[in-house]
Amino acid sequence: MGATEATTTEAAAPESSREPLYGLDRDGLMAALAELDVPARERRMRARQIVHGVFHRGATDFDQLTDLPKTLRTRLAQHFHLVRPQVVACHQAADGTLKWLLRLDDGQEIETVFIPGGGRGTLCVSSQVGCTLSCAFCHTGTMPLVRQLTAAEIVGQVLHALDQLADWPRSGRPRRLTNVVFMGMGEPLFNYEAVARACRILLDRHGLGFSRRKVTVSTAGVVPAIDRLGRELGVRLAVSLHAPDDERRSRLVPLNRKWPIGQLLEACRRYPGGRMITFEYVLLAGVNDADEDARALLALLRGLPAKVNLIPFNPWPGSPFRCPDEVRMRRFRRILEEGGIEAPLRTPRGRDILAACGQLRTAARRRPRRRAA
Ligand code: SAH
Repeated sequence: MGATEATTTEAAAPESSREPLYGLDRDGLMAALAELDVPARERRMRARQIVHGVFHRGATDFDQLTDLPKTLRTRLAQHFHLVRPQVVACHQAADGTLKWLLRLDDGQEIETVFIPGGGRGTLCVSSQVGCTLSCAFCHTGTMPLVRQLTAAEIVGQVLHALDQLADWPRSGRPRRLTNVVFMGMGEPLFNYEAVARACRILLDRHGLGFSRRKVTVSTAGVVPAIDRLGRELGVRLAVSLHAPDDERRSRLVPLNRKWPIGQLLEACRRYPGGRMITFEYVLLAGVNDADEDARALLALLRGLPAKVNLIPFNPWPGSPFRCPDEVRMRRFRRILEEGGIEAPLRTPRGRDILAACGQLRTAARRRPRRRAA
């Protein structure tokens, strides 16, 4: 689906030895053009044409880059390809949420979710296969980290979604995919280099052209990398907080033992530009949903340009938590809002398609095993 083999095949190497071109940021592309012996004075223009063709027009074949000379197209196709990740499964929920299970070159599988609504469309991308964090309420935490994703594999999720939604910038229509959030599988700030490069590709104004405000990196709190992200990219920051004190947060998010709440909030205060920071808070019945927890949260966030995303816990088989009832969640929300903090209560999306982080991948892996038994 949407994946077209590069067909500029003159002496092209097999796909396995060619690299996806969409994993290169502008500097990487300039270096690649130098290696292909493109004269120095032409490189900037050629790089811009390639970025426009691949990321603005959505080319899936180098022959579609018609403003490049034929010889350059042929040489690009000898070293690179534009093939998308393979689709293993696609689920559409009644509320319009789309969830894809994608297969990478080495057979590993990752999830990507598109969530439309409220005048925008958010693509939730994965940054790792599995996760090392073991957050108590998260399904991905039950899987071991299998590996880091490359920048191409991160960007590939976005290109795949744009193919499926027929939503390339060049269409000129109002965009369906308006925001990208690193809230899929994995801890993006434990894969900093690839995530940063993917962000630079998303932000390139001649290509996909996302603004910094439309790209959000969500972290469980890798403090040194938060500083680096602010300095080098300045995209939006989301922090998975989930509890107002270290004792409970360390149980829910073990990473808190390394970088406790005090250090984490200091890094948030240092985050440049006075930008609004989103704090995610999964509501767990009887664990972190009491009135005094809401008040403690207010006290903690005072003075920060903060917004809280309240996320009803999305249950998964065998999880030890429950989602609080509506009345409790609304009350928690009201305390925050009366204290002056915007706190949207997220409606659970795509429950009918196993949208909780990591669920689709696990279900897909269980199926064959069950059949074999
Ligand atoms: N590691 C990063 C990004 C991945 S998790 C981070 O921790 O921010 C992104 C968000 O998924 C977390 O904030 C958490 O709110 C949410 N999440 C994970 N499992 C969930 C579940 N079972 N129900 C509701 N939200 C969940």
